[in-house]
Amino acid sequence: MQQFGKVLNFNSSKAVSRLFFLILAFLFSNICYTFVTASGKSRQASLQRELFPETSRFFFALSSMVYFCYIDESGTPEVPGNTSHYVLAGLSIPISYWKLCEKGISKIKQKYDLQNSEVHTGWIVRKYLEQSKIADFDAMNYVQRRHEVGKVRKAELLKLQKSPNKSHYKQTRKNYRQTDAYIHLTHTERMCFIQDLADLVGSWSFARLFAECIDKIHFDPLRAKKSVDEQALEQLVSRFEQYMKIVSKSTKNIQLYGTLIHDNNETVSKKHTALMKKFHSHGTLWTSIEHIIETPFFVNSELTSLVQIADLCCYSLRRYFENTETDLLNRFQSRFDRKNGKIVGIRHFTGVSCQCMFCV
Ligand SMILES: [Zn+2]
Repeated sequence: MQQFGKVLNFNSSKAVSRLFFLILAFLFSNICYTFVTASGKSRQASLQRELFPETSRFFFALSSMVYFCYIDESGTPEVPGNTSHYVLAGLSIPISYWKLCEKGISKIKQKYDLQNSEVHTGWIVRKYLEQSKIADFDAMNYVQRRHEVGKVRKAELLKLQKSPNKSHYKQTRKNYRQTDAYIHLTHTERMCFIQDLADLVGSWSFARLFAECIDKIHFDPLRAKKSVDEQALEQLVSRFEQYMKIVSKSTKNIQLYGTLIHDNNETVSKKHTALMKKFHSHGTLWTSIEHIIETPFFVNSELTSLVQIADLCCYSLRRYFENTETDLLNRFQSRFDRKNGKIVGIRHFTGVSCQCMFCV
């Protein structure tokens, strides 16, 4: 939250104060809403309704237009690291659609009994071997499935605990923890869950997806004079700003602001704060930035479904480049920012001979 004090270089301090108020109010309502959705407590729900009877009207009453760009990454930025690609993606939505998006995500989560769980695509789509060891697993109800998988996992952990290979035990325990919320669903059901979410994103005509996807084999930090992370964030911000400029021009709304919202995990928040500081001090990128607030906001991804959706988009992009998987990507490809039919919001940084959908 200390980031709020660091917004600089806006034309009018009045506009800045107004934007602060707007975003603070929004984030508060966001937390409130997510809490209500997660717990289902009616008292908090009615309080939220009293405070924010109609989020979109509330914000539009202030006559400014705000776009949120939810950012997440997939793959490792280190060279070589353990992935061939590093993807940084941002999903932009106008603030007035936030509630609609949250409701849509919440509805799909409920369908799969995941209303209190975070969507972490990489963990959800894995095959859980324990499930295949249980006879008639598919025929069981959710409670039985949970119980049976729990039993198998407990036995496996006890076995590993006794073995001298402690790292295997630790890794397995971590895997179990990360996937615990999803063990009541078969692999097919989990894939359907992710596909439903991808279809939902595809239906959001008001949303745009931006991304920088770096094939690290073709990345030379000396030539680029920057790191993989730095290039990715700089490119993403530039593309989002370009989009804001076009929207501002076409809607004749100069009070158009964009803000970057990141997952507040320690690694990402430290890294992105440092990069933003570097952008500021070098003053190269920000000289052309008119609409985007210079410091990002960090939120808890557990409470912010749209950061989880950015994670899904990143994951799908990386799987496309690394494994030529197209199913998920095709479901929301309509949201890639385009100009005259050509994709301009997403770049694949790679060799000249690449024939992927972004390079041709
Ligand atoms: Zn390509």
